[in-house]
Amino acid sequence: ALRQELVELDKKYFIHPTSSLQDQQEKGPSIIFDKAEGVHVYDLNGKKYIEGMASLWNVNIGYGRKELAEVAKEQMEKCAYVSSFTGFSNEPAIRLAAKVAEMTPGDLNGVFFTSGGSESNDSAYKLVRHYWKVKGKPEKTKIIARRRAYHGVASGSTSATGIESFHEFTTSLAPGFVHIDPDDPEDFRRAIQEEGADTIAAFLTEPIQGAGGVNFPKEGYLQEIRKICDEHDILFIADEVINGFGRTGKMFACEHFGIVPDVLLLAKGISSGYIQLGAVVVREHIHQDLIKYSKGVLMHGFTYSGHPTACAVGLKNIEILESENMVENSRVMGELLGSKLKELQNETDIVGEVRYLGLIGAIEIVKNQETGERFEEKLSGKVVAEARERGLILRNVTYWEKDTIVYSPPLCMTEQDVNDFVSILKESILDIQKSL
Ligand code: PLP
Repeated sequence: ALRQELVELDKKYFIHPTSSLQDQQEKGPSIIFDKAEGVHVYDLNGKKYIEGMASLWNVNIGYGRKELAEVAKEQMEKCAYVSSFTGFSNEPAIRLAAKVAEMTPGDLNGVFFTSGGSESNDSAYKLVRHYWKVKGKPEKTKIIARRRAYHGVASGSTSATGIESFHEFTTSLAPGFVHIDPDDPEDFRRAIQEEGADTIAAFLTEPIQGAGGVNFPKEGYLQEIRKICDEHDILFIADEVINGFGRTGKMFACEHFGIVPDVLLLAKGISSGYIQLGAVVVREHIHQDLIKYSKGVLMHGFTYSGHPTACAVGLKNIEILESENMVENSRVMGELLGSKLKELQNETDIVGEVRYLGLIGAIEIVKNQETGERFEEKLSGKVVAEARERGLILRNVTYWEKDTIVYSPPLCMTEQDVNDFVSILKESILDIQKSL
């Protein structure tokens, strides 16, 4: 009865993000979540699922950590919110800024807070343009991004995104975004030649693309891009909204590639989704130049930039991530999960490439395991639906030619969770295979 009531209200009033509104009307919500613990979520009927996506790639420390609820309650009771504008400040924001500066690579030391990844992206685009302007180069405005990239849904971040369906939704893209081939650094050189380095503010990339299907950079790609940026006075922005905070088996994905970006974008894992929070982190020299040359007010800031309650939750989240060695667990469990998923190449007829780093990965569904040829009718959605029935939540990606299952579970996975994950997925794939 409760479920039925909620379904009717949902259909009537709740406009769902990134969803088929017609499906929503016809079928109502597929799962109404009720509670969650560790890597598991439960629906209203008490059915248990492994959250193989950590919801939206974000619940890194896992569900049900009461310590986060407790610091939120404490901070709300003490001082729920104050502004960080015009000289005001608060202890959780100050301490979280210092913590983020300490843990991020190199001299990434200046921290601007947001409430999520899209805000981090749009803030970064404005900050780097402002940076070049105060340095006397106001014509350096363009942002070079990669095809297949996902950067969010605000005006700028939609325009930076390289997945076409997001562009179709908006009739008016923001100017100044140029997309290049996602794999070939020579295409970056070509774009610089064509556009002129003196018009380019920054190169923007997810070190490992998430929403575009978990795409890893080709060997040496990011290092080459870093070099080209330095040669041409172009800033390097790394969007680690998904990659950051242990997802890839290191605290930040840039560490795998030995690069320090000029600007690092964070959200999701910074609070493990317990509260809305994000950040833009800039290198010391950028921070210092902004201070030195920027006259007047930095005319950019959200009501919730430096929100004390959000920052207190973020701090506690990072404390848990570190004290419980979850980044190392992500590496170890990621390797275990990934290697077991690779065995599905032998145990089934339709698993192609399996790729992963830490606890982010992808499985290609193919018709021919030798050639990688795909099925005409894509099957990844069917596998994901079957797995959900059996208690494992995953996502699939069918943009472009892809027929890909992606995964990104909480970093607190145990060996038992890995085994459950693999056995459910294997049964689901074999079931779909049988039906062919
Ligand atoms: N950047 C990346 C790499 C993302 O994956 C996402 C969200 O999935 C965003 C930015 C946007 O973040 P948000 O949805 O918090 O605005």
